[in-house]
Amino acid sequence: MSRAIASPEAMDFESPGRRDYFVKVEHTTIWAHHLIPVTVIVGPGAKPGRGLVAIGSTHGDEMEGPVAVKHLLREIRTEDVLGRILLIPVLNVMAFRANRRESPDDGVNLNRAFPGDAKGSVTYRLADFVTRFVFPQVHVVLDIHAGGEVARFPETANVHWMKDPAQRRAMEETARGFGTKFIMVYQNQTAGLLTGLAEDLGKISVGTEMGWGRAVQARGVAMSRQGVLNAAVRHGLLRGEARDAMTPPSEQVMVDTSDPASNFLAPCDAVFEPTVGLGEKVARGQRVAWLHDYNRIDEAPLELTAPHEGYIICQAWNSRVIQGQVITQIGKPLEWTR
Ligand SMILES: [Zn+2]
Repeated sequence: MSRAIASPEAMDFESPGRRDYFVKVEHTTIWAHHLIPVTVIVGPGAKPGRGLVAIGSTHGDEMEGPVAVKHLLREIRTEDVLGRILLIPVLNVMAFRANRRESPDDGVNLNRAFPGDAKGSVTYRLADFVTRFVFPQVHVVLDIHAGGEVARFPETANVHWMKDPAQRRAMEETARGFGTKFIMVYQNQTAGLLTGLAEDLGKISVGTEMGWGRAVQARGVAMSRQGVLNAAVRHGLLRGEARDAMTPPSEQVMVDTSDPASNFLAPCDAVFEPTVGLGEKVARGQRVAWLHDYNRIDEAPLELTAPHEGYIICQAWNSRVIQGQVITQIGKPLEWTR
């Protein structure tokens, strides 16, 4: 397979068939381009503005997405594609090469840079490419993240709570297709998110957390792959049937972590000692962690207790946590949208 090096303007999103591109995003310091791998597969039933994009490596040190989408490059057969499918195994190539969350070129977190800026630093230019060239082609946006070196999550598929019940239901159903136990409704205060812009544009927008620690974890890869395939089938873009979920639908749980009370911030630099397991159900008042301040080694550790019943959805990965860091989240069980 040979990849054509193309400017964003030269990409063909309409003709039936498959194109594998390296899309050029200009380097801001030297005479060079960053080359973003983008595969476009168009089937006979493709409609304008309708399609799916699966994205890996919005953050450069989260590996399940890049691995799953790279497998899909070889697994999705063009003859099975009915609509439009875009596969971007590594979006943030600068951060990926550096094995870092953010791009070393400008220190910017791509998932805070949307909608981007064509005249900004390279990460803003990359966001601008997605906003102006990718988003207009699709109505389903899957952004596959993991915890990197920041946090551990049980595998989750994530949505924001949408006012429009039809969009909310479609996002929940698409999220459930990943086969994770937890579907997480997360806070919508952070500016510049890829998924946040996509849903503001009315798209079915799902993020994930599929592992942590810069590792490649088998369940996270399998769920990422399944989530993309199920979404493509569900939305009429790929022939076939939705695959068996790794977690039976009856065992899936929707949890809400959007309440600030569900998120513990470290009050000081400390060593974080979780006392319950990831994904575990906890009762109100149950101890979930100790925080040890080694500048006050003879003082008792600070006890963190659950403010409400729920599930442990996030824990800091490194034991060393900094003042103000989100160190654990307790998801409140939530009803599915009917
Ligand atoms: Zn991420």
